[in-house]
Amino acid sequence: MSPQREEARREHIQLHMEGALRARDRVGVQDFVLLDAHTSEAAFLDNLRKRFHHNLIYTYIGTLLVSVNPYQELGIYTVSQMELYQGVNFFELPPHVYAIADNAYRMMCSELSNHFILISGESGAGKTEASKKILQYFAVTCPMTESLQVARDRLLLSNPVLEAFGNAKTLRNDNSSRFGKYMDIQFDFKGVPVGGHIISYLIEKSRVVHQNTGERNFHIFYQLLQGGGHELLSRLGLEPDPQLYRYLSQGHCARESSIDDKNDWKTVSNAFSIIDFTEDDLENLFGIIASVLHLGNIRFEENPQGCAIIPHSHEIKWVAKLLGAPPSILLEALTHRKIEAQTEEVVCPLTLALALYARDAVAKAVYERAFTWLVSKINSSLVNKDFTKKTVIGLLDIYGFEVFDKNGFEQFCINYCNEKLQQLLIERTLKAEQAEYKLEGIEWEPIQYFNNKIICDLVEERHKGIISILDEECIRPGPATDLSFLEKLEEKVGRHAHFQTRKLADPKGRKRIGWMDFCLFHYAGEVTYCTRGFLEKNNDLLYRHLKEVLCRSRNPILSECFLPAELKNRRRPPTVGTQFKNSLSSLLEILTAKEPSYIRCIKPNEQKEPSKFDDFLIRHQVKYLGLMEHLRVRRAGFAYRRKYEHFLQRYKSLCPDTWPHWHGPAAEGVERLVKYIGYKPQEYKLGRTKIFIRFARTLFATEDAFEFS
Ligand code: ATP
Ligand code: MG
Repeated sequence: MSPQREEARREHIQLHMEGALRARDRVGVQDFVLLDAHTSEAAFLDNLRKRFHHNLIYTYIGTLLVSVNPYQELGIYTVSQMELYQGVNFFELPPHVYAIADNAYRMMCSELSNHFILISGESGAGKTEASKKILQYFAVTCPMTESLQVARDRLLLSNPVLEAFGNAKTLRNDNSSRFGKYMDIQFDFKGVPVGGHIISYLIEKSRVVHQNTGERNFHIFYQLLQGGGHELLSRLGLEPDPQLYRYLSQGHCARESSIDDKNDWKTVSNAFSIIDFTEDDLENLFGIIASVLHLGNIRFEENPQGCAIIPHSHEIKWVAKLLGAPPSILLEALTHRKIEAQTEEVVCPLTLALALYARDAVAKAVYERAFTWLVSKINSSLVNKDFTKKTVIGLLDIYGFEVFDKNGFEQFCINYCNEKLQQLLIERTLKAEQAEYKLEGIEWEPIQYFNNKIICDLVEERHKGIISILDEECIRPGPATDLSFLEKLEEKVGRHAHFQTRKLADPKGRKRIGWMDFCLFHYAGEVTYCTRGFLEKNNDLLYRHLKEVLCRSRNPILSECFLPAELKNRRRPPTVGTQFKNSLSSLLEILTAKEPSYIRCIKPNEQKEPSKFDDFLIRHQVKYLGLMEHLRVRRAGFAYRRKYEHFLQRYKSLCPDTWPHWHGPAAEGVERLVKYIGYKPQEYKLGRTKIFIRFARTLFATEDAFEFS
C-alpha cells in the first residue's frame, strides 16, 4: 500500500471510529465488557436501557447472555436468522440466544463434550421462551435423518404437554412454569438430535387446591373442560363451566382472555398422540384430573360431636369411580384417621378442619404423582436405545430468586436452589478462568469474590443446617409448631452471620409484627421468611388411611405411583426439604460434569408491556442475578481472549503485513498486527494459542476500526 493510500485509510478509519462511538452512545455496546472499567450499576443499566429501546434485547457479558423480555414479537427468530448464526464465531454477530445454542452445539460436536445452558431469571423474565427458542434452533439447524424426525418431534412436543400440566396463569406471568425443568437433548456423533430426558423439580402442588385472586390452577384443568368435548366430559362426570369447581374458581379468573384453552387442548391432544400415549393412558390420566375437580367439590359438615361428615354422596361416587376405589372406603378415609396405638390400630373421626386438610392432601398427592408419571412416560418415549454413544446439551429452565412481601417455604426452597446455582457459576467461572490462564502460560492475580458456600451450608449442612433443624422439628414427639421451629433456629443458628430472626432485627423489639419470621442474607440480598406453614409443607403428610386407598387404586396410573411397599415401610418418607436438597445435589452433579453456558433473563416491567423499561425493577434483577459480580470476574483477568487464527482472520485487513494474506505462524502475524495498530504492552498478553486482551476498550477500538475500514 502506498504511503498516501495508507494515510487516507487511517483518516478514513479515524473518521468512522468517531461515528462508531456516536453509534455506541446511542444504541449501547453489545458486550458489557466493552464498557469502561469500573462500570457502575448506573452505566450498566444505561447500556441495557439504550439497547432495549432499540429492540436489542440481548447483550453479552463475555460469553454470558443477558436477555430482556421484549413482550412483543420482534421477528428475530426466523429460519433465516437461525441460519445466520449457524457455525459463525460467537462474537462476530450481534448477541442472540441462537449464538449461545450454536456455540454449545459446535463445541459439543468438535470436542465430543457435554454441555448445559442454565437459564435463570424471575417469573415472567422469558426463561421458558428462551429454552423453547433453543430447542427450535436445534430442531431446525441440526442435521436430520428421516428415521429420527419422530424423535425430534417428540422433543419439541413434550413442551406443550408439560406446560399444560405444570404451568399456570399467575399475577406475574400468564404462562408461569410452576416446576423446575432440566432437559437433556441427546445427539449422536454426527450431531443429529436422537433423544432426550427430562427431570422435573418441585412442582407447586399447593396450586391444585388453592389459587390467589387473579391466578389460575394448572392449565390442563381448563383445557379439559373447554376442549374435552361432551363425550369425554360426561364419562368423567364433568361440566364445561370451570366456575362450577371450587379448585378452579377461587382466583376469579377461570376464563382468561389472553388464554385460548380450547385451542391449547387441541395442541396438547395432538402432542399426546405423537408422544405415544395410548387412549387408555389418556383416559386414566384425565380420570385423575377429573377426580381432583370432584374432590374439591366435596362438602363437609360437622355433626353434633364435632366430627366431619359428608352429607352428599354425588362427588364421592365420582371420585371413587375415577380413582378406582370402593366409595364406602373412600368416604371413611376422608373422614377418619387410623392411629397406631401400641398393639392395634384405632380409627378416630376427623374434625372438620382435619377432613378439609385430608381432602386437599389427596388432591395434591394424586396430582403430583400423576405429574411425575407424566414426566417418566414422556421420558420413555424420548429414550433412544439405538444410540449408546451420545453427547448431550442440557437445558435448565429453573425458577429464579424470589422475594415477595410474604415469603414462605416455597421461596425458601427456590432461593436455596439459586444459592446453589450461583455457587456453581462463580466456581465454574473462576475455575475456568484460572485453568485457562495456566494452560496458556499467562500470569494473573486471583480476584476476591464472595463465596456463598457459607449460605449453602447454613441451609443444607447435616445436623446443623436449617433443613435438618426443620426435619428434626417435624419428627420430634410432642407438640412441634412453626414457632417452636423458629425458636430452634434461634438457638442453633441464631449467631450465624447470614441469619437473623425478626425479633432481633426489630431494633426496639416493641411490635410483635413478624414474630414468626427469620431473615437470610442471601448472596442476592436479604429475604425475610415467615415460618408459618413450614412444618406442614415440609411434612407433606398424607394420612395412612388415604394412602391405603390410593395404593389399592384400580386406576393403573395411580397403582403405578402409589406402591403397596409404601404402606409396609413404617419409616417416614424423606421430608420435602430433604428430598429437594437431594435432588438439587444430583442436579449439581449432573451440571458439574458438563461445560456451562449461561442465560440471565430480565423482566422489564410488571405490566407485561412492550417498550417499558422499569429502572427500579431492573436494577433489582441486575443485583439478584449477580450480573455486576459476573462482570467484575470477567474483568479481573483479561476481558477478551481469542485464538490467534480467529483474531488474525478478523482483523488482518488493518495491517499491511497481514493483508491480504499472512503465510507465517498465526501467533507471529497477530504480534505484528497488534504492534502495527498500536497496542501497548500492558494491554495484552500472548499465550500459547490465544491473544489475551486486558481492557475491553482496546478490542473495542480495534473492532470499530475494522467495522469501518
Ligand atoms: P416463569 O418463571 O413464570 O415460568 P418465565 O421466565 O419462564 O417465567 P416466559 O413464560 O418464558 O417466562 O415468558 C413470559 C411471557 O413473556 C411469554 O409468554 C411471552 O409472552 C413473553 N416473552 C418472553 N420472552 C419473549 C421473547 N423473546 N420474545 C417475545 N416475547 C417473549
Ligand atoms: Mg417458565
